Amino acid sequence: MDLPDSPPSLWLAKYGPYQPEPSLAGDISVDVAVIGGGFLGMATATALRRRRSVGGYRLLTPHGSVSAAKLVYATSAYSHLFGELARLQAPAFTYMIATEPLTSEQLAPIGWAGQQGLEDARNLIHYYRLTPDHRIVMGGGPVGLGRGGDLDRDSDQKAWQHLEQHIGWLWPHLYGIAITHRWGGPFSVTMDLTPALGYLGEDRTAVYGLGCIGHGVAMSYLNGEVLADLLTGDGDGPAARQCPFVNRRVISWPPEPSATAAKYAIRGYLQAEDAFREHLPARAKRRPGDRPAAPAVRSRRGCGGEACG
Ligand SMILES: Cc1cc2nc3c(=O)[nH]c(=O)nc-3n(C[C@H](O)[C@H](O)[C@H](O)COP(=O)(O)OP(=O)(O)OC[C@H]3O[C@@H](n4cnc5c(N)ncnc54)[C@H](O)[C@@H]3O)c2cc1C
Repeated sequence: MDLPDSPPSLWLAKYGPYQPEPSLAGDISVDVAVIGGGFLGMATATALRRRRSVGGYRLLTPHGSVSAAKLVYATSAYSHLFGELARLQAPAFTYMIATEPLTSEQLAPIGWAGQQGLEDARNLIHYYRLTPDHRIVMGGGPVGLGRGGDLDRDSDQKAWQHLEQHIGWLWPHLYGIAITHRWGGPFSVTMDLTPALGYLGEDRTAVYGLGCIGHGVAMSYLNGEVLADLLTGDGDGPAARQCPFVNRRVISWPPEPSATAAKYAIRGYLQAEDAFREHLPARAKRRPGDRPAAPAVRSRRGCGGEACG
């Protein structure tokens, strides 16, 4: 994996380490309120009221309130908690691990000089980063699902085990390296696996962005520009005009228990397609009389779980 010409991670190069903002306090009035928005550190909105008589919105937070003429739902995988967005997306979960810092001897055979972000080409992708202190941070593979809008699925021992084994499978000299961090969290999934942004309601005072699967961080930057276009200029700015996901018809998830059944069916299909593609090279190499190739997921490094190698 020597990548001499590819640029280093945009995030690390441009933004540096994450610094949380102080929480919002007091009663304030703004033109536009943003609920969510990930790492912006905004306080939790405990209630949202539409002020029909005077127009606009009132958000209650643990230490105050925000009155706003316009509203952005940047709530991604949490959007089902808000009535108007309830069935547009469902949360699914991805899991990550971080290794101890690699020594220069461990790093040299990999040739990962530029801290580029990497991913494989599976449906259920594996993705990799190298931190400034030379830990490999990787995630993906098994995707977690809960029933309904369950958001309590941040841990999954099997998924973490899969990732750990995957590191050893990909870089055998790192087999058994210490894992210092394990974590997981929700990402937002629309029924057709495609992002969706747009106006909520006829008066065009509220906008939403959700369903960023696979490349949510990059997409969230574009989303910010698109939603700003929608709120300030009726969507005629360049970002909104060029984005194919704006005001598209979003297929709603069906009511429960059908939504949960649909999520499991979609994940099953994606896993099966990954497994099928991974077996193709083994089948192509097989000659008449050969014994069937062992499934790729049972590689010599014991890489258990789906979409492994
Ligand atoms: C473990 C993990 C690894 C990932 N890895 C990658 C990756 O390598 N590359 C990539 O591109 N994407 C990755 N993603 C996906 C990526 O993080 C998301 O797609 C991206 O963060 C979406 O940005 P967002 O701002 O739209 O939503 P989020 O970052 O999800 O932010 C939504 C915010 O809404 C907040 N919220 C919910 N309810 C309320 C409320 N009532 N009041 C106020 N705030 C509220 C939540 O606290 C949250 O902070 C990963 C996700 C996870 C969980």
